[in-house]
Amino acid sequence: MPRNWAGTYEYRAPRIESASTEEDVQRIVREGGPVHALGTRHSFTDLPDTEGTLIDVSGLTGGITIDEDARTVTVAAGTRYGIVAGELDEQGWALHNLGSLPHISVGGATATGTHGSGDANGVLTTAVRGIRYVGADGEVHEAHRGDDDFAALAVGAGAFGILTALTLDIQPAYRARQDIYAGVSWDAALADLDALTGAGYSVSLFTRWEPDTIEAVWVKTRLASDDDAVSDTLLDGQRVVGVEGPLGSGDNITEVGGVPGPWMLRLPHFRLDSEPSFGEEIQTEYFVPRTHGAAALDAVRALGDSIRPHLVWSEIRTAARDDLWLSGAYGQDVVIIHFTWFDRPEEVGALLPPIEEALRPFGARPHWGKVHRFDRPALERVHPRIGDARAVFERLDPEGRFSNAHLERLGLREAR
Ligand SMILES: Cc1cc2nc3c(=O)[nH]c(=O)nc-3n(C[C@H](O)[C@H](O)[C@H](O)COP(=O)(O)OP(=O)(O)OC[C@H]3O[C@@H](n4cnc5c(N)ncnc54)[C@H](O)[C@@H]3O)c2cc1C
Repeated sequence: MPRNWAGTYEYRAPRIESASTEEDVQRIVREGGPVHALGTRHSFTDLPDTEGTLIDVSGLTGGITIDEDARTVTVAAGTRYGIVAGELDEQGWALHNLGSLPHISVGGATATGTHGSGDANGVLTTAVRGIRYVGADGEVHEAHRGDDDFAALAVGAGAFGILTALTLDIQPAYRARQDIYAGVSWDAALADLDALTGAGYSVSLFTRWEPDTIEAVWVKTRLASDDDAVSDTLLDGQRVVGVEGPLGSGDNITEVGGVPGPWMLRLPHFRLDSEPSFGEEIQTEYFVPRTHGAAALDAVRALGDSIRPHLVWSEIRTAARDDLWLSGAYGQDVVIIHFTWFDRPEEVGALLPPIEEALRPFGARPHWGKVHRFDRPALERVHPRIGDARAVFERLDPEGRFSNAHLERLGLREAR
């Protein structure tokens, strides 16, 4: 069977079928039995898996339609963000934000509440104005922002159907630059975390949890003009030019060093035309309320010596609160603490309980697409609307065709 992008999870579904049109999806769903969507495979667990048929929707890419009056773009669910971003930019339009890599499908990213960074930027799903999906009855359904069920369905983890198309908010294209700051001490950062995360349109802190300083702060500034100046200092750190960035200096990184460029070549860390990130890796990520951000980071820092040997890097970002029930930022502005681990499942597995215990006082929520140890009771403590979302999924799919072991373990679907 095929594996996820990182090669760390092998899908167990007995059957996998590719769909390149909405009709393909309907035909496969109508054949009966358990089904589940598989996007571009950038998640890290059995979340997409099924005991029946995996429907690979990464080929569901036909059509990108821009509606300038409504300020929306409608895309097929398997479309990668980088493709829609390129098309939008060519026509003078943009999205509000992007994740670290443009390779992920719009449907899969939406379903897991994928995010970029920025104190004022909602997770990517907040740009979704409407969805089209094939439901358990094999029919095509739509849901729009403002509809009763939309808050449950937007970040829906594939738990109620197969998304076939999404309509996203757009705005006029803009330019941005990326600058790297080095030497920011943990003391200064934790004393005024808001100053750090608010230093640009989108800010990422890269750290290996060394005791004294954060290795690099990557500030993405949205420009009114290419001549806009940026500060040479950030708290007690300095802007550095011509040095290797936190992710290396490979051809797969978007341009840093303060060079202005189009939004879609600056907001992601990685370029669409090459392989992103480290490769054989495991990822973990938790959302904590921004009001507890400094305390939560301090709690993880205390585990730094045990974390570091198995860590490629950590990245700390922010997102603005939203009203999507299963979003990591539901109801609260958040600081998001990410770990890229070496592919060492046993060692990483042993580290997750102490990390989750350290973050428990802050009500941390895990990223749906990444590796964590939360179960139904633990999620019910931190996701106040998970029971309501589950009820919507059960109503739309009473036989549990889109349910799977992962969703039942987490309480996103009822156990069967
Ligand atoms: C290198 C790397 C960098 C990453 N960077 C970020 C980041 O910056 N920010 C962040 O938040 N996350 C990040 N992620 C995580 C990633 O965005 C999520 O795992 C996302 O779900 C990937 O989308 P996908 O299409 O690959 O999903 P898949 O892994 O294919 O599927 C994930 C889930 O989405 C569902 N799904 C997929 N397509 C559909 C559909 N059409 N209809 C219904 N359900 C669907 C699946 O059923 C499953 O439940 C990163 C992952 C990697 C590997």
